[in-house]
Amino acid sequence: MDCKSIPKIELHAHLNGSLSNANILELHQMKYPRNDQDVNSEAYKVEKELLDLTQCFVKFKYAHDLTDCPERLARATENVIRDFAVDNVVYLEIRTTPRATDFMSRETYLSTVCESIRKGVEKHPGILVKLIPSIDRSKGVAVAEETVLLAVKMKEKYPDLIVGIDLSGNPENTEFRDFQGVLEKARNSGLKLALHCAETTGTVAENLEMLQFGMDRIGHGTFMDESSETWKMLLDKKILVECCVSSNLKCGTVSHVENHHIGKLLEARHPVAICTDDFGVFNTSLSREIELCAKTFNLPRDAIEEITVNSIRHSFASANEKSRLQSLVHDFYRQQSCG
Ligand SMILES: [Zn+2]
Repeated sequence: MDCKSIPKIELHAHLNGSLSNANILELHQMKYPRNDQDVNSEAYKVEKELLDLTQCFVKFKYAHDLTDCPERLARATENVIRDFAVDNVVYLEIRTTPRATDFMSRETYLSTVCESIRKGVEKHPGILVKLIPSIDRSKGVAVAEETVLLAVKMKEKYPDLIVGIDLSGNPENTEFRDFQGVLEKARNSGLKLALHCAETTGTVAENLEMLQFGMDRIGHGTFMDESSETWKMLLDKKILVECCVSSNLKCGTVSHVENHHIGKLLEARHPVAICTDDFGVFNTSLSREIELCAKTFNLPRDAIEEITVNSIRHSFASANEKSRLQSLVHDFYRQQSCG
């Protein structure tokens, strides 16, 4: 199956994890112009070796170093939009944690990303892009409060762009219940919730709590089946699970591609989206992820179409945007079956 030509929907992509080799090189040369032989993309990429989640989080420090000022953050963002557009992604929800550095405040970070998305889309009109500011749970509740306030404030300026809030970051040493208040505020302000959930074995105790709280989409959901009550609630609520196969394999949370929980979810006819998570770090693309799933789980073209349509349905796009995307996907598959 030629997955490159398929119009694709990306619902789970982190900005700093989605820096391609070319993007890293360009940013590195901007930051260290006198030191251009010393680009250590190995420090960023995860090639074949398996890492645990803590080591994966270390990898992001390299990208974070390169996107620590508005100028390079803007370039990185525009390049990421270009790279998804080149892979024929027609709808992208990008997520990022507003970060304060020596050179910018969290507010400047977020407004820089918003402006750069606007510019990126102007250059690549074939892709529609939305932004989901992320709460990094390892930074604590006070920063989470600030992030949501910023997202709500920025949504007034960019109402079509900021659509939701993500909860991500290393879940170790934090409790979901501490974030419920701030997530509730986000929800009451009209932001959708895309929450990383059941990403590691360490979160098993809170999975049910998260499902009871409710969210619009689940990131990963890898360890969701540990208790039957949790699994049943997931299926009952029909919350779409964003599946990131290569990411889970390389972080070692799934042992073999055949064991990936997307297989079980598809079997249960539960809505899923195929996503990259961090295509730069994990050296993949959305086309490759779809190809990998199609091959491993014997998915015919109409199954891929169904996954794409479900992704649109559960996306945070407006009703008009969803119907335009659905027609685009529908037309593509009908032309293919005639041609
Ligand atoms: Zn993620």
